[in-house]
This record gives sequence, C-alpha cells and structure tokens, in this order.
Amino acid sequence: MTAEQALLTAKKVDAKIAAGKTIGLLEGIPIGIKDNMCTQGIRTTCASRILENFVPPYESTVTQKLKEAGTVMVGKTNLDEFAMGGSTENSAYGGTANPWDLDRVPGGSSGGSAAAVAASECVVALGSDTGGSIRQPAALCGVVGLKPTYGLVSRFGLVAFASSLDQIGPFSRTVEDAAILLGAIAGYDPKDSTSLKVEIPDYTQFLKPDLKGLKVGVIAETFGEGLDAEVESSVKDAIGQLKALGAEIVEVSCPRFRYGVSAYYIIAPSEASANLARYDAVKYGIREEADTLLSMYKKTRAHGFGAEVKRRIAIGTYTLSAGYYDAYYLKAQKVRTLIKQDFEAAFEKVDVLVCPTSPTTAFKAGEKTEDPLSMYLLDLMTIPVNLAGLPGMSIPCGFDGRGLPIGLQLIGKVLREDLLFQVAYAYEQSTDWHVRKPTL
Ligand code: GLN
Repeated sequence: MTAEQALLTAKKVDAKIAAGKTIGLLEGIPIGIKDNMCTQGIRTTCASRILENFVPPYESTVTQKLKEAGTVMVGKTNLDEFAMGGSTENSAYGGTANPWDLDRVPGGSSGGSAAAVAASECVVALGSDTGGSIRQPAALCGVVGLKPTYGLVSRFGLVAFASSLDQIGPFSRTVEDAAILLGAIAGYDPKDSTSLKVEIPDYTQFLKPDLKGLKVGVIAETFGEGLDAEVESSVKDAIGQLKALGAEIVEVSCPRFRYGVSAYYIIAPSEASANLARYDAVKYGIREEADTLLSMYKKTRAHGFGAEVKRRIAIGTYTLSAGYYDAYYLKAQKVRTLIKQDFEAAFEKVDVLVCPTSPTTAFKAGEKTEDPLSMYLLDLMTIPVNLAGLPGMSIPCGFDGRGLPIGLQLIGKVLREDLLFQVAYAYEQSTDWHVRKPTL
C-alpha cells in the first residue's frame, strides 16, 4: 500500500522534473513516518496489537502538510507500543536493530524513524517526543533529532500518549534538512487546542557558521554519576568546539533536574491512563467478543496491550485516584513548575543550554527489558525539557570505542529553535561526525 503510493508520488515528481518545472525543496524526498501518526487509508498501529487493524479515516495535520509539500512516504516506522519505551523493544511487531550494531537497540520510542534515517532507508523522518523519544534514538543512531517547543507542531492525528508533553519533530542526517522539515510541519492548527499562533520563519536563515556573541550554558548536574566516561569526554570535546567557534561557555546549575524522571513517571502515566481509556473494543481496533460489555473490555484490553502499556495504565490510574491524587499527581505537577523555574534561572544567564542527550550509547537488545527502572533512568537528561515545554535537539558529537554514536543535546528557550539551529549547524559544519555512515 505505502509502496504503491510512494511510487506513484515519485513518478509525478519525475514527470514534473522531466517537463522542466521547478520543484519544491521537499518534493520527491523519501520520508518515514512514525506509526503513531494517522495516515488516511494506511494502517496505523502504534506498534500495539490493540490497533492491529486500525485504518484511520483521516490524515494527521503533519502528514497532510508533507503530502502537500510532495514528500514520498516510504513507510510507517516502528516504535515502542504507544510510544512508551526507550528501545523500540516494546513493539507488538518485533524490535528494530541499530544500524551501527545490529545486536543493539536504536533507542526509542521513535527507534524505527531514527534507524531508517541512519541506514539511509529514507532521507528524513518524523518522530514524536514525550520524554525523549526523538532525541534519545537520534543520539543512539548518530542522526539529528529535534523536539520543537510544545505547541509549535500540531498534534492533530498524533495518537495521544501524554498530551501535555507530546510533540512531533524531525529526524535527519544534517541540520539543514531538519530546518527544512520543521518549516514544513510547524504552524498554527485550529484542530489542536494547544497549537501556538506564531509566524513560522524560514529556519534555514539561521544556519550560520559561527557562534560569536552567543552564551552557551553547560548544565553541571548532567555530568554526575551514571554518565558513561566516553560520552562525557565526547560531549566535553564538543563544548570545547563550541568555544572555538566563538561561543562563551558558562557553567549553570539546574538543581531540580534530577527530580524530572520521578515527576514524569507520574504525570505521563496519569495522562496515558486517561488517553488510553478510549481503546474499549467499541470505537477502535480489535475486539474480543464476550458475554457482557465489561468482560469484552477486559478481554480486549488484556490481550491488546503489552506489558509496559499495562504498567503505565496501572500507575496512572493509581496516581489519579481519590486520595492519591494530592500525594502523587499534584506533587509531581509542583515539581514540574520547579524544573521550569530552574530553566528560567539558567536562561537569564545564557542563550542555549548543552548537556549529553543520553548517559550511555546504544545497549544490547534484551539487556534492560527485565528492569524498567534502568530504562526509565536513561531519559534523565531529556525529560526535563518536555516538562518545561522547551525545544531540544540532539546532534551527533562522536563515537565510543565500539563505534557507537554519541549525541549532544542543545536546549533552547520557548520558540528559540533559531538558536538551536545556529549552534547545531556551526558545530556540524566544523566536524565530520554527520558524514559517517554505518556499514550494513
Ligand atoms: N522513554 C520515555 C518513556 O518511555 C519517553 C517516551 C517518549 O518520549 N515517547 O516514557
């Protein structure tokens, strides 16, 4: 289905080129779309068994915009079920391999999109990021991944995980491609009540080769315990390179950063438990017949959801329930505010923040599946950015001794994607990490 459509779109663009017509920047560009964005007439599973037969009757805003821009969708990409996970192992349809080492995970939850771009199966791809799902797999696969400011890109047609955190963004091999793709998908959408009414600039105008006059803050707390030594040294080298490009480097402190994971694992499951209530075997997806309505719900949900999704629904239902709401959910929301305040204080001193994207490089498939907590901790550095609604980007900044990619995370103030592009581009142009490709 997607193959036929892709060939058809490609032929149309070929014909246009043959006729001597000028084509748009994205026309004919092969793109992968994470399988939690609705594509009309094309199965959208969220890597869940419960949506195994779901063919959306409508198109998400982002894929609609990309269709209009003439991109060629070569396929829907794999993910952790409902975007819950950090390794793409929680997929009902099997895992995705990391192109740099096929025994290792690509990260997640947008692991399919990251791996497809790294393996040159498509030029660019879309992912979604609730707590790191674009940036972490980008880091582990050695590509560029951007989570835009909350509200910059429409969530209409994105299957909801945690609505106050979810955001769609681009994957690409170069910073320039990410700037072009963001320009194509960003913008106000009346179909998303959290969509921001802002002008969308041409992001490519911010791709400048130097960083003179820019203040870059290094988040001190992200260099503590648990950080892999090779990741630390690559990230520190990258910070040295930013200095060589003209940036002033300042150490900043975000003391409440470390509570991010705890707050996130209350807020995100709470929202997920509400969002996933809609899979009741009536309106969407598979149905397991039973004698009573209640047993139909139970049977369908018991067989339809995987273990991690069930774990999140259970946690979220608990943290929202009467008596526990104040103790957990409300408290987590207060922590969220404190983390926002840490960022605000840091941004009084600097223009952009940097830190590692992930504390480690890609791990072996199966290594962390029995220990959800160790998987949750990998999002230590990406989660605070979602809690504060800020833009964050991961760019390649080196390789470890095994030849596995390392990512540098850049964090900006609300709607300052321009500065992220400037820093990312200047760095990329002065290094050659992005031109290396995995041998497959
Ligand atoms: N790994 C995190 C989680 O499992 C983030 C997922 C995401 O950003 N979608 O919740």
